[in-house]
Amino acid sequence: MNAPASPRFDNSFAALPEAFYTRLAPQPLSNPHVVAISDEVAGLVGLEAELLNSPEFAEIFAGNRLLPGSQPLAAVYSGHQFGVWAGQLGDGRAHLLGGLRNEHGHWEIQLKGAGRTPYSRGADGRAVLRSSIREFLCSEAMAGLGIPTTRALCIVGGDQAVRREQIETAAVVARVAPGFVRFGSFEHWASRDRQPELKQLADYVIDTFRPACRDAANPYAALLADVARRTGEMIAHWMAVGFMHGVMNTDNMSILGLTLDYGPFGFMEAFDPGHICNHSDDQGRYTYRNQPHIGQWNLYRLADAFLPLIGRPAQCKAAVDEHYGPAFEGRFEQLMRAKLGLRDGLPDDENFIGETFGFLQQHRPDFTLFFRSLAKLPAAVDRENMAKTDAPLRDLFVDRSACDTWLAEWRARLAQTPWPDAERQAAMRAASPKYVLRNWLAEVAIRKAKSGDFSEVQRLLTCLRRPYDEQPEFEAYAALPPDWANGLAVSCSS
Ligand code: AMP
Ligand code: MG
Repeated sequence: MNAPASPRFDNSFAALPEAFYTRLAPQPLSNPHVVAISDEVAGLVGLEAELLNSPEFAEIFAGNRLLPGSQPLAAVYSGHQFGVWAGQLGDGRAHLLGGLRNEHGHWEIQLKGAGRTPYSRGADGRAVLRSSIREFLCSEAMAGLGIPTTRALCIVGGDQAVRREQIETAAVVARVAPGFVRFGSFEHWASRDRQPELKQLADYVIDTFRPACRDAANPYAALLADVARRTGEMIAHWMAVGFMHGVMNTDNMSILGLTLDYGPFGFMEAFDPGHICNHSDDQGRYTYRNQPHIGQWNLYRLADAFLPLIGRPAQCKAAVDEHYGPAFEGRFEQLMRAKLGLRDGLPDDENFIGETFGFLQQHRPDFTLFFRSLAKLPAAVDRENMAKTDAPLRDLFVDRSACDTWLAEWRARLAQTPWPDAERQAAMRAASPKYVLRNWLAEVAIRKAKSGDFSEVQRLLTCLRRPYDEQPEFEAYAALPPDWANGLAVSCSS
């Protein structure tokens, strides 16, 4: 086919032996139409404006037409789901189209929701418009926040009816990342005692993404350490903005340390560390507070899978322990210090940060508004004007005197490492977003999109590109959830 200015795909993953995947074309989607495009991602992968504006665009990213060089495939993987070994899973509704190389790197493009594959396990291979909008917006919101993530190029909607709790319509999200290999991709071969494939996969990851690991005494231990470090950093970032993934199963963990597979995620509102954002998570395995521990648990499962490559259990465990905890703690403390406006670290900061979380847990202010409002306050305040000066923060509390008590401690701590207000406040704003993808914001965009108006998706995308900036035209997007949003629930159903 001759799409305008067609880019040409390669497919590095397809160079692996056939055991790793099944080649198959996406299933066509009827009446494909563009719902949203991320122009930033289009630029990243190097798609020309001519293609973006052509009628072929929707056809290509619905999976109805293949680009030159494309060798679509669905990959196999396994994994632990909710702490239990689940056996073989795989891309049940994802087709890897291929990769595009340019000066920004090598980008693989995967269609999510483009029909059944041999790994669909009885499900329909589709994704609904609702969940596609959530994945699209959150991928781009996380990128805007500076958090490692897979990206989203576009959403293409179609006519096809899809049965979930209700009948909805199908859509396809084009995801973009350097690679989509998961912890579960390794667990798959380890669980089958298939060392040759395990080694092939590890060599593929090292050679393609982490060539520096080759120089290490044990390249596989170096790779495991790299995954541990990146996963620690990623989860520290999640915690600092109140992001909850919702389904941290090992098949949803990226070997590249990217946030992957957006489903029933959430951003913390009224602070509750035990918050369960996924309605299907009955046991509360993936609460906000559990995420750092679950990250480590998942890495131990990956370490188990790496054992045949590394040889010594102690070395596997050390690769995780020596890199995950320090990366998580170091990054988390750095981010929290920035959020609190603490210029230099002091030995007691860990305690102060811990006390602050205890205080937030007790009084449950909105997490995002708390830190953003804190950035408005001066380091010094006189008694008479205190109530007025501190109003932006105090107004988030029912118990204002508790807020005053905490503020006094905060100011005492600030005084230990003085920092001019304007500079400190700018640094605090750069660490505490004003705009996050609150469920109610996504819901408004989804409701409009279901009635054929996609403008809100694009508006939200524009806002979430610059989450740390004041954007007066989007002030309403920084607000607390409206009353109607109180009962919003998200589950694995997507
Ligand atoms: P998830 O919990 O969304 O990460 O999905 C777990 C597994 O179920 C993965 O192997 C998915 O590919 C598969 N899966 C989820 N939803 C569908 C669907 N609608 N059709 C086919 N496979 C699916
Ligand atoms: Mg998944």
